Amino acid sequence: MSDSTVPKIVLLPGDGIGPEIAAAVVEVLERLGDFEFDTRLMGGCSIDESGVALTDEVLEACKASDAVLLGAVGGPKWDTTDPDAPRPEQGLLGLRAGMGLFANLRPVRPVPALADASPLREEIIRGTDLLVVRELTGGIYFGKRGRDGDTAYDTCEYSVAEVERIARVGFAAARRGVTSVDKANVLESSRLWRETVNRVHQEEFPNVILDHLLVDNAAMQLVAEPSKFDVILTENLFGDILSDEAAMITGSIGLLPSASLGEDGLPGLFEPVHGSAPDIAGQGIANPFAMFLSAAMMLRHGLSMPDQASALESSVDRAVADGIRTRDLGGQATTAEATEAVLTRLD
Ligand code: NAD
Repeated sequence: MSDSTVPKIVLLPGDGIGPEIAAAVVEVLERLGDFEFDTRLMGGCSIDESGVALTDEVLEACKASDAVLLGAVGGPKWDTTDPDAPRPEQGLLGLRAGMGLFANLRPVRPVPALADASPLREEIIRGTDLLVVRELTGGIYFGKRGRDGDTAYDTCEYSVAEVERIARVGFAAARRGVTSVDKANVLESSRLWRETVNRVHQEEFPNVILDHLLVDNAAMQLVAEPSKFDVILTENLFGDILSDEAAMITGSIGLLPSASLGEDGLPGLFEPVHGSAPDIAGQGIANPFAMFLSAAMMLRHGLSMPDQASALESSVDRAVADGIRTRDLGGQATTAEATEAVLTRLD
């Protein structure tokens, strides 16, 4: 955490369209207040420069900041099946582990003006306003893995303490209730998950409604009746899959923000859900709105600036409602025009 009164934001533009949407978000944030930006390399661009996706120096800068804002990383240039070659997403995993970011928050709220962008019928998505709270630093992505002859294995482990802290984030975020998702009929780690969630509920959040769903059932319910969910609380692998499924409810990946949070008082990481979109990089047509909404989550959850967060969100909503659409939303607006539309509405 920096001591200065001007919030210090480490900006990691990354690869592909990352630098384009990062430039746009700096313009928007500078309209909202004073920020100190420290722009660093992470992902493929860092591999090209220094051989690793995340250097110790960049990780230290992130830990010393007030918040980290990330574009996206990756691209065909760095795609490889060589297990020893550096990969851009190692930078993301390194940041999550190094900054202790154990909670990933992804809100899913279809914009009424874009209801026809969803692959689901409007009457199914109407009223959807949910939050996926995913555990981010445990489970199978961080367990022991390896190869033994022609066999490969990955292990899923969770401790009580890991489940307790993510459960608290989920319950604290609930407005109506929490649906905890696991596979307790098969997996021992899921049985520990369920026991622990039940105990945290009874001891600390008895007034929040809690129910449990098996992950396969949750995957069905999410497209059958998304509006019945408030907070979906789940472990790393299930959360990875369910949050992408939930993302499709809006039909527009260019509108989805995310936040990754650590312990209270430590910097969080804020980034759009979409990737680096190498197919459209460099053309000036990337949709910057998910990046703007990620910046709004940063203002709210990372920098305690809720008024500026709401102003930014409502400017994006109004721009979309007024018909400002980039190509992915079925329009012709460029990144610059979409940015200008938000700046105008902020004024
Ligand atoms: P992607 O999200 O980059 O792109 C999927 C499709 O959506 C593409 O057609 C793309 O043009 C479009 N799209 C995405 N964001 C857009 C935006 N803001 N505006 C307009 N169109 C947009 O997913 P992908 O193609 O599977 O992955 C591309 C690269 O990104 C891969 O290297 C992948 O590993 C990486 N990736 C990174 C992150 C991250 O940095 N957090 C997340 C997902 C994928």
